[in-house]
Amino acid sequence: MFKIAKEFSFDMAHMLDGHDRKCKNLHGHTYTLQVEIQGELCESGAKGGMVMDYSDLKSAVKTHILDKMDHAFLYDLTSEKEQKVAQLLNTLDSKTFGLPTRTTAEQLAKFIFDELTAQGLPVSLIRLWETPTSYCEYTS
Ligand SMILES: [Zn+2]
Repeated sequence: MFKIAKEFSFDMAHMLDGHDRKCKNLHGHTYTLQVEIQGELCESGAKGGMVMDYSDLKSAVKTHILDKMDHAFLYDLTSEKEQKVAQLLNTLDSKTFGLPTRTTAEQLAKFIFDELTAQGLPVSLIRLWETPTSYCEYTS
């Protein structure tokens, strides 16, 4: 079994409604995302000797994650307060992305794992840095 990974960087704003410290305020992060996939090697052809072409991995993550989330306001669809902020931003033609959960690094890592898995990628691990010194890992 082989594992390969690619790393990405993107920016997002969020807030944690109900948090008991400063994270309840609107703020942003430059996230670092590591997507690891696993599999056996393609036996022949253009992709022979590869688990997956890194450029195919890059374009899948770009299409299904980065294009939707980069420079967006990430908000919790179940929070009335966060929905209000998102609605205002939408009227101002500003990018938003709703998650069905709180927008913690943990929930976001699981969401990304599930999204990419649903697209048929054999994801084995998502590692998401919210800051240079804090990361969350989600595995199957
Ligand atoms: Zn934060």
